[in-house]
This record gives sequence, C-alpha cells and structure tokens, in this order.
Amino acid sequence: MSEYIKFTWEHAATEITPFHRLTEFNAYRRKLLQLRLIGVDANGIGFGNLSIRDGATNNFYITGSATGGKPELTLADCARVVAYDFEKNWLRYEGSAIPSSESLTHAAIYASDAKAESVIHCHDSKLWAALLNQAPTSSKAVDYGTPEMASEVARLFKITGVQSRKILAMAGHEGGIVAFGKDLEEAFVVLMRERREGVE
Ligand SMILES: [Zn+2]
Repeated sequence: MSEYIKFTWEHAATEITPFHRLTEFNAYRRKLLQLRLIGVDANGIGFGNLSIRDGATNNFYITGSATGGKPELTLADCARVVAYDFEKNWLRYEGSAIPSSESLTHAAIYASDAKAESVIHCHDSKLWAALLNQAPTSSKAVDYGTPEMASEVARLFKITGVQSRKILAMAGHEGGIVAFGKDLEEAFVVLMRERREGVE
C-alpha cells in the first residue's frame, strides 16, 4: 500500500484525538460509495478520500490510505494531520491509519481558502472529461499526491475562479476531481450540481 504514498511522514501518536464529526464523514462516504465516486478500482486499489478541517487551524482529519472501499469508517481508519510542509513533501499525523496519499492536495485547499472546511477527492470519468480545461484544471504534467500538485492547487486559486466554483479537475490523474466547501454537505452539493450540468 505504501507504494501509493508519495510523501514522507512523522508519526506524532498512535492515538488519534477524537473527532466528533465521524458520523457526518460516514454519511457522505455512504452517498459517494453508492454513486461509485469513491470505492475500489478493478485492481483492488481503494480510491477517493474525504477530509474536514480541524477547528480554526490549517490542519485536518482525513480518511486513511486504502480505505476507499470500506463501507463504514471507525476512528482507526482516519488520521489527523497536525503539521505539513509542501516543499519537503512531508507531514506529521496522529492515528493508526496512514493518511490518504492525497493529503497534501487537501492541505493545499485548506491553506489557500480559509473558508474551505471540507474537501472531497473522488473519481468520475464522465464529469472529469466534461470539466477538463472547461473548469479549473491542474496541469497534465502533475501527478496526484506530489508537491507539484499542492503548488498547482495554490496556483489555481491565484489565476482561476476555483474559489467560487469549488471544484477542480486533475488532468494528470485520470478521473480525479476535487470538490470543497464550507462543510461536507456543500462539497457534495457542488459535485452533484456539476454532474447534472455535465450531462445537459
Ligand atoms: Zn485519486
């Protein structure tokens, strides 16, 4: 599983500070699983991850690596990212699960937009194709989970309307979409609205 993890990490603690929004996390994961926007691909690799900002900080709770296919998460499937450095491609976390390989992409959203409280990364090939270069899109040369992706996200916040549209397509990560909002509900609603508009 670690071959998909591209950052280096420091483990702050095995115990994770409890997280009162796990019920909300699971509620939106269930909807995303039903729509097959998160899950397990044909090679058995879990995809898709969710996060929620940790209070007034730029840190966050995120689903653990390789949990994409699990129907229900417990606290042990989540990690609390308590520090990170984009240039060093490094983060520190609490919990027994390794944070998602896309953690630094989520971090870049929180660092770029103080109003973003939740981030959803999912895969949807149809929506992805519709958004590609029509909506804020990260460079095709940039792979997921890399420091370059984090700086791509920061660049999109400077030069595109991503802050108001709240969605971006990852050209270098097939099917990869990131949506965010003031809570999981808003990120989910953005995703559903874009999916509807994509078919019209
Ligand atoms: Zn992905």
